[in-house]
Amino acid sequence: MAIVDRAIARFLPAVPKPVVRRISERYIAGEELEDALRVVRRVNAEGKLATIDVLGEEIANPDEARSIASAYRDAFEAIEREGLDSNVSVKLTALGLGLGYDLCRENLTEVVADAAARGNFVRIDMEDSSTTDDTLRLYRELRESGYDNVGIVLQARLKRTLDDVAALAELRPSVRLCKGIYVERAEIAFRDFEAIRSNFMLVLEALWDAGHYVGVATHDEWLVEQAKRGVTERGLGREDYEFQMLLGVRPALGDDLVREGHRVRI
Ligand SMILES: Cc1cc2nc3c(=O)[nH]c(=O)nc-3n(C[C@H](O)[C@H](O)[C@H](O)COP(=O)(O)OP(=O)(O)OC[C@H]3O[C@@H](n4cnc5c(N)ncnc54)[C@H](O)[C@@H]3O)c2cc1C
Repeated sequence: MAIVDRAIARFLPAVPKPVVRRISERYIAGEELEDALRVVRRVNAEGKLATIDVLGEEIANPDEARSIASAYRDAFEAIEREGLDSNVSVKLTALGLGLGYDLCRENLTEVVADAAARGNFVRIDMEDSSTTDDTLRLYRELRESGYDNVGIVLQARLKRTLDDVAALAELRPSVRLCKGIYVERAEIAFRDFEAIRSNFMLVLEALWDAGHYVGVATHDEWLVEQAKRGVTERGLGREDYEFQMLLGVRPALGDDLVREGHRVRI
């Protein structure tokens, strides 16, 4: 499999591998930065914001993790040069979390510092539950060392998430809320479709109650409708939240949201 196929296979563990190659073309802008920039230009022209995620191969040594960090520097440089409306998302395993916490912190700090210098923003993707504690700890360390241009992802699938919202409250985090793509053990995760939906809404309301910025990341029309209702009921302004979708998934739903005046990030 090509690098992009292996990368998406890790991100979509429940999808059979033969299907991965066919579908990955829809989800992934391409192998080069220029491919990503072409897609970001198109997305921006459609009135949508973007986030660029550099998907690496399995990281086997510190140099590979450093080269991913450096790919983000190239992305920031190009975003600034072209005046694109895009931030980035990072996977901590791609920055070396599997090799060591300190190596990952070093790479992540470099990416976030570079973003800060350019007035850009870094969203830390959430991976499987074996990484949740380290991810939240790294996020907290960055915030406590003065970086505000960094956000986190929380997964409605995990039973711990409402507690995480409470624990993070004093940091006033910018949160992407998603269902969570990784299949997790029943002791720690909701398995039932309706239970995940219902926890998504509980977490969303808790985040909004606490006054946090939320990226509502879903293609589930029912959740989109509930979120839109929440926006209206709370009188949230256009700058107070955003919807987020994956490249190539339900584009018409994103177009509808843009027409209705919501911010949408791909
Ligand atoms: C912007 C964004 C960022 C994300 N970041 C993370 C992250 O950091 N960590 C994480 O664990 N998960 C992440 N996810 C994935 C997320 O957790 C869900 O697994 C995924 O979005 C599917 O759930 P859903 O809410 O869209 O609802 P679903 O009920 O799964 O989907 C609703 C409908 O959308 C369509 N659809 C959804 N997904 C796909 C697909 N892949 N291909 C084709 N059609 C599809 C289908 O028509 C489906 O019926 C992210 C999702 C988005 C949109």
